[in-house]
Amino acid sequence: MNSPSSNDDLDRLRALPKAEVHLHLEGCFEPSVIEQWAKSEGVVLPRPREDLLKFSGLADFLGFLDLACGLASTRERLAELSYGLSRRLAESGTGYADVIINPTHWHSWQGRLREMLDAIDAGFTAAEQDGLPAVGLCISLLRTQSADAAIELVSSLVSLRYPRVVALSVDGNEATAGRTGPRFAEAFRRAGDAGLRRTVHAGESSGPEGVWDAIDLLGADRIDHGVRAIEDASLLATLAERAIPLGICPTSNIALGVYPSIQEHPIERLRAAGVLVSVNTDDPALLSTSLVREYQLCRSTFGWSDEITKAVARTSIESSFATDDVKSKLLDALTGW
Ligand SMILES: [Zn+2]
Repeated sequence: MNSPSSNDDLDRLRALPKAEVHLHLEGCFEPSVIEQWAKSEGVVLPRPREDLLKFSGLADFLGFLDLACGLASTRERLAELSYGLSRRLAESGTGYADVIINPTHWHSWQGRLREMLDAIDAGFTAAEQDGLPAVGLCISLLRTQSADAAIELVSSLVSLRYPRVVALSVDGNEATAGRTGPRFAEAFRRAGDAGLRRTVHAGESSGPEGVWDAIDLLGADRIDHGVRAIEDASLLATLAERAIPLGICPTSNIALGVYPSIQEHPIERLRAAGVLVSVNTDDPALLSTSLVREYQLCRSTFGWSDEITKAVARTSIESSFATDDVKSKLLDALTGW
């Protein structure tokens, strides 16, 4: 990892023009920031800072998420968190990101969607003014929400028409929520009619059937994860033919036990089957990874050449919900890499 050649590779990968399309604001809490916020609120952390992200299981992880989102209760803190995410993007040489945010996690902002978006927007706007990368927001439903709650969120988004909001998303555990495609079909239809793009977590905690529902019922422009499509040849053909891209997060899939090791991860088999794939981090702070590390991991495991690396970076840019202007600048820069 620390040999001179791998450091050269990291520097080259940092210089690779690319976008990130599968990244959660909730996955960008830095332990030092959480410690500082907790201290000023008189909140005792469950364990010391250096062990804060060593989760003992899903319940422990969700408990941490509750604590962290609860501490981000002011406009200043939410802006600070957003700015920190932009700095993280710049450190990996990421030119643009679609950032997912799920309002159900942010208890202190319930019923105040506009104020919450204003606080997040303030952080990203300040970052862009300081030369950090541009960001679009994908507002996410939770898998366990009702059809009515989903439609209510979409109605709010449609009436707000918030410029930074580019897409409707859905995330959460499909293994516990069961099949929810039919429940959210109407909300996604309305979002599409209103000009929002659509991105859907599927084929991670669900099998190929979750990806089929994302395509057939939710009109997904992009699938978050989608890795278990590898189990269904006709789904692979459909994804390839219709050029529906997958936003894949290798380290996240290993950490959550979807695959036992990176060697068994299907990203290369999906790519070789003609499916458009991009490399992403999901929850970089919580998983202690970065976008350049994820690219390096794929290159060292699957022997990706520079040409393949460029093709994956191209997919990341083309499958993002960035403006045409941002996309064409990044694509031009990619040609010269
Ligand atoms: Zn995710």
